[in-house]
Amino acid sequence: MKKAAAVIVAIVLAALAAFVVYDATLNKTVSESFFAMNTIVSAEVTGVSAKEDCTEIEKIVSRLDTETLSRTAEGSEIFRLNKNGGGEIGEKTAEYFSLLIDVCEKSGGAFDFTLGGVSDLWKFGSNPEIPDENALANALLHSGYKKVFLDGNTVSVSDLLVIDFGAAGKGIALDEIKNHLEASKAKRAVVAVGGSVLLYGEGEFTVGIRNPEGNSGSYLAKLKTDACCVSTSGSYEQSFEKNGRIYHHILDPKTGYPADNEVLSVTVVSDSGLLSDALSTACFVLGVEKGFELAEEYGARAVFVTKDKKIIARNNIEDIIEITNEDYTLVIQ
Ligand code: AMP
Ligand code: MG
Repeated sequence: MKKAAAVIVAIVLAALAAFVVYDATLNKTVSESFFAMNTIVSAEVTGVSAKEDCTEIEKIVSRLDTETLSRTAEGSEIFRLNKNGGGEIGEKTAEYFSLLIDVCEKSGGAFDFTLGGVSDLWKFGSNPEIPDENALANALLHSGYKKVFLDGNTVSVSDLLVIDFGAAGKGIALDEIKNHLEASKAKRAVVAVGGSVLLYGEGEFTVGIRNPEGNSGSYLAKLKTDACCVSTSGSYEQSFEKNGRIYHHILDPKTGYPADNEVLSVTVVSDSGLLSDALSTACFVLGVEKGFELAEEYGARAVFVTKDKKIIARNNIEDIIEITNEDYTLVIQ
């Protein structure tokens, strides 16, 4: 090798070595889990400030819950709206309202964030029971997203209506976490807030679709994807059995009873956490056909797991899905 070429090779190697040392020294991977928003949050972050990022993620989720979205934390924006029949909200919260009203409308009311009074009667999370029919009819009468009015940063709601962002809050948390990770220059992160997962950074990620009839560690399929948000709504999350029937927490706003169709779970992939979360709930209520239409209206992708052991997807997901449980059949339609 000529002397000049050898010098260049040496310089390049030295630069590479320096980069590796630099990278190995400054980029750390830190994992943490904690409880917030009534669920387990787990975060794995790689970056120069991974530890601080994990601490901040915990603060973001807890703050979003207690200051904005919680329906039970006194002083949260939603708590105050429910208590006072409306009021002023922050700019970001107004944006969430506007996006969620749009999902209510586009889903034809299958998604409805005003079912808090109805959900309360089912007592999921404490001692679930079938509500009294009259009480249910009355709570349903007072619900309905068309009774919510958003004018700039002011919301007004009719009496006895109870706003509940439970179907979208975890996804909203993912969007706020993503904003933080972008600002802190994190390299890569996987953050799960209950059934909603943020996949952040470069490269490929694998995320599992849970077996709705198995335990929490059992999966039916894998999705291989680049950065995005993935949310799953499943009847297995909160349910009870009475007289041979299963009752679960995803309600049909038309009846106030658990949505009853062919679906066991829906997984939605979107760039937006809010949309992946809200759409997975909406698609569960709508069922396969209408669910696909709604997801596609938002440029999102959906995978349904049905009671007859099918995993139903459109061809926009065929390349990234792998079935890992042979009792289930992949149907592309
Ligand atoms: P998820 O687990 O994201 O599907 O959200 C389910 C939660 O959303 C429930 O526990 C209720 O608080 C609320 N919810 C139930 N049914 C609906 C519905 N049809 N539209 C919007 N929110 C709902
Ligand atoms: Mg949801």
